[in-house]
Amino acid sequence: MSIPLLSLVVPFFNEEDTISAFFPRVVSCLDAIEDLAFEIICVNDGSSDATLQRLIDAANADERVHVIDLSRNFGKESALSAGLAEARGEVVVPFDADLQDPPEVIGELIAKWREGFDVVLARRVDRQSDTFLKRRMASCFYRLHNKLADVKIPDNVGDFRLMTRAVIEAMKAFPESRRFMKGLFAWVGFRTAVISYTREVRVAGKTKFSGWKLWNFALEGITSFSSLPLRVWTYFGFAVAAVSFIYAAYLIIRTFVHGVDVPGYASIFVSILFFSGVQMIGIGILGEYIGRIYIESKRRPLYLIRSRYNRSTSHER
Ligand code: UDP
Ligand code: MG
Repeated sequence: MSIPLLSLVVPFFNEEDTISAFFPRVVSCLDAIEDLAFEIICVNDGSSDATLQRLIDAANADERVHVIDLSRNFGKESALSAGLAEARGEVVVPFDADLQDPPEVIGELIAKWREGFDVVLARRVDRQSDTFLKRRMASCFYRLHNKLADVKIPDNVGDFRLMTRAVIEAMKAFPESRRFMKGLFAWVGFRTAVISYTREVRVAGKTKFSGWKLWNFALEGITSFSSLPLRVWTYFGFAVAAVSFIYAAYLIIRTFVHGVDVPGYASIFVSILFFSGVQMIGIGILGEYIGRIYIESKRRPLYLIRSRYNRSTSHER
């Protein structure tokens, strides 16, 4: 019987400083797992520093390291998709280049998989390595998302997880081009186990996700998996209309009782401002979804591959 193959899928975007620490630690961790072969699929997501060259050097030194060079920066979600498409392993683990997720945990994921699970999630129990603001925002996001969307994302679970071939094939069959990976991972289901680990600080370099990028990421997540923000405007509209009817009735009665009076500019002005604002928010939310339909309707590829390194010398499937 041949031993199973693990594919570690790692997106790299301007990570030249982390690479020297990355390969020795990850390779020794994976070597330590018994009865398991592995390949490391490195996706260079359009880095502008020496990342690609360092990855090629690593691929030349170790035939289990494969490099996919994307034609530009497509973002982490697309880079992950590219890596998942290239992965040939029976089990696949997406992994960050900065070693924030300790590679030692992969052994635990494998042990759970051997118990018969299709998906093994790794939950961050300790996020001290992230800033206070990021932790607060993240917890608000999970709460809001899980209130709105039908598919719940498990709390504090990132892309770091183990998935079997069946799960990967299911994910690859998704036609949509805007991919919110956390949501998709949750959508596919399968037999799932959860283990806990502590997220560490980056070994080098700095985070690629600024506050604004994370905000957009959160919007992406919510609008990809819920249409409630669209529907809620119908109810809001009804409520506002009802209030305005009541107010109109009150005005009519008041006119009969007190006659016509001129004052009231202030309240009119305030309500005009308020409802213009409300309408603009409503239009903005519509735009968010229409933009999504527009992008989806173009059916563009998720990413373009410029070249591959080391792919031919690898395992045959
Ligand atoms: N990354 C990527 N493309 C991007 C941004 C990030 O491939 O446009 C990669 C990055 O190199 C790293 C992973 O995604 O391997 C996670 O990024 P980062 O550590 O900056 O995110 P954080 O851990 O702070 O959420
Ligand atoms: Mg990180």
